[in-house]
Amino acid sequence: MLPQVVELAEQNMLAINPNTRDKKEVMAKCPFCAGESKNDKFYLSLNPHKNVFKCWYCKKFGGAIQFEALLENEEYQTIYRKYFGKGKKKTKHPALKLEPNQLRAIGWQQVKVQDYETFKKKQNEVLRHWKIYEYEEMTKLYAVYLLVGYFDHGDPMRYQQWFIQKTNETVVSDVIKKIKSSESTKWKEKGTEIARKVYKVTRTDDSPENLFVNVLILIELMRKNGSKSATV
Ligand SMILES: [Zn+2]
Repeated sequence: MLPQVVELAEQNMLAINPNTRDKKEVMAKCPFCAGESKNDKFYLSLNPHKNVFKCWYCKKFGGAIQFEALLENEEYQTIYRKYFGKGKKKTKHPALKLEPNQLRAIGWQQVKVQDYETFKKKQNEVLRHWKIYEYEEMTKLYAVYLLVGYFDHGDPMRYQQWFIQKTNETVVSDVIKKIKSSESTKWKEKGTEIARKVYKVTRTDDSPENLFVNVLILIELMRKNGSKSATV
């Protein structure tokens, strides 16, 4: 709950023009320019409805938090935190957001459970491992996705269902969404290259499982040939 500007004025003993107490604008003496402005004038306008303040003399203005910060001679953030806990949450490192099954896939789950301090210290390394893993998974799935598109003439439903099932098996999240996104990525480039090569060696009556195996074999071959195929 935010502080109220009129209450703040009262708490800080600002002189309030009694004739304006119940008005839309409550006028008070401005503590920020008291020395400069004529002391007998009420330059500070407080709007209880909008919960804002403005001085017509020194032009200071703002909301309740700003008002309290100026009155207390505190940083805005300090007052903000007073009302909104710790303020804007520090964004969590992406590695710390990985799910247990995702960490398991890259061999970090146990470290996280057993030695969280170490895990936290190595969060950049964890993230790098995850990025590589995700890249490889997405490359593979994207290649299969393209191939399923080429070869589904006979039984599109079966191929599509098979593919959806395949995406459910991976610990990478939102696979379909990532694939359908128009964003161009390295794994799309690589996946397309792999799909083209597999296409040439695949018979039109191959099952989706065969397509998948062919993709895996090709990735393995490329890896052995030392091309930077399956790694970032
Ligand atoms: Zn003022």
